[in-house]
Amino acid sequence: MAWNVVIAGGGFGGLAAARELERTLPKQSARLLLVNETNFSTYTPFLPEAAAGTLEPRHVVTPLRDILHRTYIRLGEIVGHDPAAKTVDLRPKSGAAETIPYDQLLLALGSVSRTLPIPGLTEHAVGFKGLADAIWLRNRIVENLEEANATAEHGRREELLTFVFVGGGYAGLEALAELQDFAADAMDSYPRARLHGMRWILVEAASRVLPEIDEELADYALRELRGRGIDIKLDTELREVGPSSVTLSTGEVVPTNTVVWTAGVAPAPVLKDLNLPLDERGRVPVDDHLRVAGLDSVWAIGDCAAAPDPRGGLCPPTAQHAVRQGPVAARNIAAELGIGSPAAFEYRSEASFVNLGRYKAVGRIGDRKMRGFPAWFLARSYHMSQIPGYSRKVHAVLDWTASLPFKRDIAELGSAARPKRLG
Ligand SMILES: Cc1cc2nc3c(=O)[nH]c(=O)nc-3n(C[C@H](O)[C@H](O)[C@H](O)COP(=O)(O)OP(=O)(O)OC[C@H]3O[C@@H](n4cnc5c(N)ncnc54)[C@H](O)[C@@H]3O)c2cc1C
Repeated sequence: MAWNVVIAGGGFGGLAAARELERTLPKQSARLLLVNETNFSTYTPFLPEAAAGTLEPRHVVTPLRDILHRTYIRLGEIVGHDPAAKTVDLRPKSGAAETIPYDQLLLALGSVSRTLPIPGLTEHAVGFKGLADAIWLRNRIVENLEEANATAEHGRREELLTFVFVGGGYAGLEALAELQDFAADAMDSYPRARLHGMRWILVEAASRVLPEIDEELADYALRELRGRGIDIKLDTELREVGPSSVTLSTGEVVPTNTVVWTAGVAPAPVLKDLNLPLDERGRVPVDDHLRVAGLDSVWAIGDCAAAPDPRGGLCPPTAQHAVRQGPVAARNIAAELGIGSPAAFEYRSEASFVNLGRYKAVGRIGDRKMRGFPAWFLARSYHMSQIPGYSRKVHAVLDWTASLPFKRDIAELGSAARPKRLG
């Protein structure tokens, strides 16, 4: 008899787990099924560069079928779960809903942008979590530069040339740094807009940026970005977002039509519908073997799980943790099916880097702190080793090399996704 192993989510954690299950479980003993919303996995650390055009968007994603060879891949969403019957409900991308039985279930559903009840936020701001956000943002910047170059109206130009990011964690800062760099280069092609000048603003409620890294390195990043003219407003909150302005806790009203919300993540909202225990933040609590509390055939990893961190507390929502949890959960699932022995999750993060664009970064490996080009180079080399698939590694190097001697590409391809109607 073959066991059914279902993996919900094909991002960092789910993909790493599926690869390990393919290696560990003999073909005849297990059927592997992975359900994901898309047929690719996104390498999020490269999203800022996809938005800025130094990497081709298709080169920051890896088709799941290039990596997985015997896992049955279904496109769609897991929308329900009956732990007693051991089934999950699948809403496929096309076709009728299905109920799928499992012997072992691994949840790797990731997270979404965490929102707060700020008036106008969900209507007028965009997150920075996926490829669609990155592509949209790039097109928005180019559209704004085009219109700012054409309009004679001062107020409208102000609105178009002001870009507000909210949240000073690494994802927000990296996106801001790369996109400001892109826009500053692109401005050469828009002389009238250039005369007016751009404003790039980061709004952060805390008194520092980059809580994920050492304070000294965070200060370096702050100085570097302020040196480029980025207005970083610490101890400041976003109070309201409108279609053409934001209001800050200082009372300042900033004219802008581009607000990027990067103030943290929340676990996948669908978890609430899956009959699972959840902690106060909506994550699935797991033990040090990544097994869901009280359910012996269900496992959870990555951003959707509240997993004990061997350093103390809970693991932070990072790809570093998700890719290491995947194989541990896979081995524990195999052990549950009688193959190999179980193991606890023991990874201790030793390094972190934040890319600041313009070939600069800050970071640390163990106790060693780094900044500037050496940090950028090390971070790129690390990511190169991590992005799944040989062809993606080669494409990334080619993209970086090819972009060096040329001007930034300012083609606005937003309309390309909407074919013209016939007739
Ligand atoms: C811009 C940015 C930069 C980042 N940079 C770094 C970095 O440099 N280093 C680092 O360590 N971390 C980084 N991160 C964090 C990292 O991306 C996450 O921690 C990581 O993606 C978590 O992995 P995961 O497997 O839990 O979730 P994900 O990789 O998000 O995968 C979840 C998958 O589940 C799928 N899914 C969701 N709901 C359903 C459903 N109902 N049914 C089926 N499938 C579903 C999604 O489509 C997705 O493919 C960054 C994040 C962002 C946004």
